[in-house]
Amino acid sequence: MQQRSDGRAPDQIRAINFELNIAPHATGSVLVSMGNTRVICGVTVEESVPRWMKESGSGRMTGGWLTSEYSMLPYSTTSRKPRDISKGRLDGRSSEIQRLIGRSLRAVVDLEKLGPRTMWIDCDVLQADGGTRTAAITGASLAVALACRKLANDKKVEAPPVKKLVAAVSAGVLDGRAIVDLNYEEDKAVTVDFNLVATEDGEFVEVQGSGEESTFAQDELEQMITLARKGIADLISAQRAVLARIMVSPAES
Ligand code: UDP
Repeated sequence: MQQRSDGRAPDQIRAINFELNIAPHATGSVLVSMGNTRVICGVTVEESVPRWMKESGSGRMTGGWLTSEYSMLPYSTTSRKPRDISKGRLDGRSSEIQRLIGRSLRAVVDLEKLGPRTMWIDCDVLQADGGTRTAAITGASLAVALACRKLANDKKVEAPPVKKLVAAVSAGVLDGRAIVDLNYEEDKAVTVDFNLVATEDGEFVEVQGSGEESTFAQDELEQMITLARKGIADLISAQRAVLARIMVSPAES
């Protein structure tokens, strides 16, 4: 069986690291690293909701809103990636990714308890080496947890309006074998591209899988789900370890 390019086992995620509070003006922020992929996740809470929510009269008048933006910094890729603004429009990929991040975090934030506020989740890729969307979700989950704690500490809400942790990971099929948490080299080589978003209690938020100029079998799908679920459990353990550490060391939070 062929080795993975970086020597990992098929079910092994890349080294994960969370650096907290890297953007002091944000309500919560995290620089997440998964191997060589690094994403800055900043959460800002604004004391207002979008106009459409105020006008909709949808019965959610007391609740808040959560939205996300994603971009790759120009120097995050091996050749410079121009900013979207220089083209005058958001590219389709960024738009797809930011909607995924928004859906993933809306699944775990209690918008009623957030109150009439907007939670902005800004994810900016500092270094891209595959799996930027999944790293963004995993980092944003922690940044949201920090922001929610701050809202509670500042007595803006009674309890942190976050229901559970969420994380995401990619998987794929390479030479007929499932692997988890693909780097860029692997991402280019796989015949199936798969992303899973799930919560700490093992519930799915989103399952995305597509054949890249090829098809895949149910057995391969099941293998990818198994590896991705294990990867997510590992990521959630890492998130929990970070949260436990700041609980005993409030100065760091
Ligand atoms: N990539 C890049 N430039 C781009 C888009 C992607 O260099 O404009 C690279 C980057 O390393 C990224 C990888 O291709 O992580 C895979 O991209 P994909 O669209 O599958 O998203 P991701 O895996 O980052 O969520």
